[in-house]
Amino acid sequence: MSNSLRSSVTAGQRPAIVPQRRAQASVASPEDKPQLLAAVRLKKSYRKAGVEIPVLRGVDMHVRRGEFLAIVGQSGSGKSTLLHLLGTLDAPDAGEVRFDGERVDNWPAARRDALRNQKIGMIFQFYHLLPELTALENVLAPLMIADGFWAYRRHRKAHQIRATELLNLAGLGHRLNHKPRELSGGEMQRAAIARALVARPEVLLADEPTGNLDGGTGAEIMGLLQSLNRQQGLTIVMVTHDLAIANQADRRVKLVEGRLEGT
Ligand code: ADP
Ligand code: MG
Repeated sequence: MSNSLRSSVTAGQRPAIVPQRRAQASVASPEDKPQLLAAVRLKKSYRKAGVEIPVLRGVDMHVRRGEFLAIVGQSGSGKSTLLHLLGTLDAPDAGEVRFDGERVDNWPAARRDALRNQKIGMIFQFYHLLPELTALENVLAPLMIADGFWAYRRHRKAHQIRATELLNLAGLGHRLNHKPRELSGGEMQRAAIARALVARPEVLLADEPTGNLDGGTGAEIMGLLQSLNRQQGLTIVMVTHDLAIANQADRRVKLVEGRLEGT
């Protein structure tokens, strides 16, 4: 167990979602904070039947530590493409992705995998939970993968405590042993959020996180994301086609014809 988690558990407090030094940095105004994640003149096209379809035509964006940024765009405008590039799941044709001031899009795959496992959490419209695992096991899965078998066995108790606390924080403490098919859409997204945060990422990338939920449930998930941002200092980049959802973020930019407006 990490020292910060151990001390917060023994003190009977919530575990810190983000490491301590970031939580303490919240006295600075947003403008003073360094950029955590940035895209510089990002370009991406897809090829279909020999025809090149440009999707991103030079995207410049940044998000500062502790910020909640919404990227709004119509269906097919390239939101998921952009989020995948920011999460280093895919590589741009041109331009750069910078994490904490360092260019990362050209790192070797193994180093990008490590960056993603340790520092970037992702959630999706369709949750992408593993159907055979319970909510608790789904949240533990990234730690199992990061640790490997023997290290995971050594840390299992601490990991289970952390995963349970995160599921409690996400409002799913009463469904730890339910499998995804036994959960509602909102509950599956809560489990996916807990899973995305279990490795203490520095940024959460959210792809239409309410896109498959009814209005009331979507509002609850937005409330959870807002409280993680405001109370835990979690940096969030969310893409959505829904302006009402985007209005709940701190700042909005619009993806139009492959470029961002309003940065
Ligand atoms: P959004 O998330 O805003 O709906 P996407 O980023 O998924 O948009 O897609 C942007 C455009 O790129 C769409 O026109 C889509 O059809 C196309 N596209 C996305 N992925 C691929 C792919 N792997 N191959 C070819 N075209 C793709
Ligand atoms: Mg999409």
